[in-house]
Amino acid sequence: MANSMESILKSTEDQMNEETTYYYPNMCHICRCYGENVDLKRCSACNMISYCGKEHQKQDWPNHKQFCRVLCEIKKERKVDNLFQSLKVKTEEERKTVFKELEDDGKDGKGDMLINQLLAKATTLMKRKLKFRESHMLQFPRICTICFESRHELLVNCKKCPQITFCKEHLLNNPAHEEQCRKFILNSIFKPMSVMKKAAAVKLCAQIKMEKLPSSMMEFIETFITKNLINSKEEINLLNIAFSEKYSRPLSIIFALEKLDFPKNSESLVVHVVGASLPEQFYIEWEIFLHYFQSVKKLSVILIGDELMFLYNQTEDLCESCKKENKEVIIESHHTVYDEYCRRSNFKKPDIIACLNAGFHAYPTWEKSIKVLNKGQCPLVVTAFTKAEGLRDEQIVKSIFPAANCVFSDYNPYESYYYSRRKIGMPIININQFISIYEQLGAKNTSK
Ligand SMILES: [Zn+2]
Ligand SMILES: [Zn+2]
Ligand SMILES: [Zn+2]
Ligand SMILES: [Zn+2]
Ligand SMILES: [Zn+2]
Repeated sequence: MANSMESILKSTEDQMNEETTYYYPNMCHICRCYGENVDLKRCSACNMISYCGKEHQKQDWPNHKQFCRVLCEIKKERKVDNLFQSLKVKTEEERKTVFKELEDDGKDGKGDMLINQLLAKATTLMKRKLKFRESHMLQFPRICTICFESRHELLVNCKKCPQITFCKEHLLNNPAHEEQCRKFILNSIFKPMSVMKKAAAVKLCAQIKMEKLPSSMMEFIETFITKNLINSKEEINLLNIAFSEKYSRPLSIIFALEKLDFPKNSESLVVHVVGASLPEQFYIEWEIFLHYFQSVKKLSVILIGDELMFLYNQTEDLCESCKKENKEVIIESHHTVYDEYCRRSNFKKPDIIACLNAGFHAYPTWEKSIKVLNKGQCPLVVTAFTKAEGLRDEQIVKSIFPAANCVFSDYNPYESYYYSRRKIGMPIININQFISIYEQLGAKNTSK
């Protein structure tokens, strides 16, 4: 038992460490240098991974060798010089059909299908699950952002960021990239695990008592967290990203409760997080609830999701002041879907239900779980990666609960500042960017 737990912990740790070596097409994979002063060379066999020179290529070869062979084998089998050459488009209309917008209901575009096929084929040939860097090589390849040109000799890298490439024709015509570029740069110098660990080590100050939420995530971080830290500007930038990621989930839920004038005098609080996944189990500090709802002695965060890993209850290590007052935060994990959890005898009635970055519109499996979201007869908060997706999710909630009372639907002041790539041809995204808050979902669902 102890051994298997240890091995799960170990593999989670490995997985997390591996994330720090994520891949960008225009960045030396070893020393992570990029930009206009660097003369990158790509691996001449696969042409898909970059190095600043022979030395780093040699150093990476033991790691890259097997995957490189697989990429070459796939090229040979498909009789192409370049895995993405079929994606090139001539018109804007054509462009729209290559990658499906996530807001669309439509079928995958041919680009999505190609990438899925390549991922599946590579997995088969590797005879194991792909590492992040390997799947990223197929998901975020070096192709022109505008027309998906992929012949390397026709492409020019963005001078500032390690991801974006333009063909010569589209090089001069890309004002839209500036904002994305800035985020890419922040993101690419951000090593998630090491910075997250630093942020995790900063415990909530016992002095923080929030009568009211500050007006935004940035104000929260500056007022309560980084005020007394002495760091360089760059470090502060990275810490802002890490802290926003650490607090975005609980603060979004507190923001919803504040909007709903939730009474601040109860002794306990039960929060259901539906569709929860690993980050909710690991990086999040839920204690911040106790510093906002100061009468609450016991906070139960009930995570329900079929991607959860640990199934024991955790308690959070609290600040001195919370300990002195005998407060506690209990995190229960239920590895299941919500409709199943609702049928269990240990169902605990929630004060609020949160579906964070749930993507109701994207996963048909949500349907059954959404139907029981009114079992708790309590408010609901739903967040999304983008406004368009958030509005789509609202339509779905409305279609199931026509009397649902949505009291707030807008950009979320407690979004995370940590951006990640989701798919090629799409902007990078952050969690909890958009938020919908429902006071109630309507009359009891009496249908059997
Ligand atoms: Zn290098
Ligand atoms: Zn290679
Ligand atoms: Zn182009
Ligand atoms: Zn750029
Ligand atoms: Zn505390």
